[in-house]
Amino acid sequence: MFLSQLHREWVRTMPALLTVAGEEFDKSRVTLYCYRHSYAQRHADAGTPVDVLRELMGHKTLGTTQTYYRVTEKRTRRAVDRLVTLQFDRHGGRLWDQAKALLDHEHARMRIGQVALPFGICAEPSNVKAGGHACPFRFRCMGCDHFRTDPSYLPDLRAYLDTLLRDRERLAAAGELDDWARAEATPSEEEITRLRSLIRRVESDLEALTAEDREEIRRATAVLRKSRPVQLGMPTVRPAAGDIRIGRDQ
Ligand code: SF4
Repeated sequence: MFLSQLHREWVRTMPALLTVAGEEFDKSRVTLYCYRHSYAQRHADAGTPVDVLRELMGHKTLGTTQTYYRVTEKRTRRAVDRLVTLQFDRHGGRLWDQAKALLDHEHARMRIGQVALPFGICAEPSNVKAGGHACPFRFRCMGCDHFRTDPSYLPDLRAYLDTLLRDRERLAAAGELDDWARAEATPSEEEITRLRSLIRRVESDLEALTAEDREEIRRATAVLRKSRPVQLGMPTVRPAAGDIRIGRDQ
């Protein structure tokens, strides 16, 4: 007899399976394949890094491994609590230095009072209300009081800096643009400088942590990046076969 048949028979002879809510669980949904998901979920809940889990599960890509588990509410909350103590404003000032753990109502307030950006968070009420699609300041986040970020956005901050530097070079060489158009489209020195110093500030605060704290931040970052929604994207300059257009990342 095949293993799957033996397994089916074993599950059939079990007493009723109940969910946490006390409802009966459909036993036909208990298949051998489910154990791979349970295995991945338990590892993920225990904080096993996704690259380690990928190796344990024999996957080629992290993306495949990530489809095997969900980021639970509890883990997300723990991660938010950990990272909120390292939240920075646009000047690199720490916002919640003393925060140890957010209370329930603070979690709720944070969720409804802010919206995710590609490299941080926006707390501007009209933009939050519009789900992040109505920035009144054309996404000039590096100069905006409503912007904040934390170490989980570090890769995105660096990528944004690279984008600005690339755009600056490309626009400088764009002979088909009038000076005023080029000047308006070119990322400002102020934005680049502000972004550089913000990145340095986040990096240096991370370096100042103990190895144990850094590891905690790394895990919290992995959890939040996994659960983060798809971003709307920021205005950027997108090159297209000999053409330069102002566009928005999707
Ligand atoms: S500039 Fe950025 S932080 Fe400020 S309101 Fe617009 S999206 Fe929000």
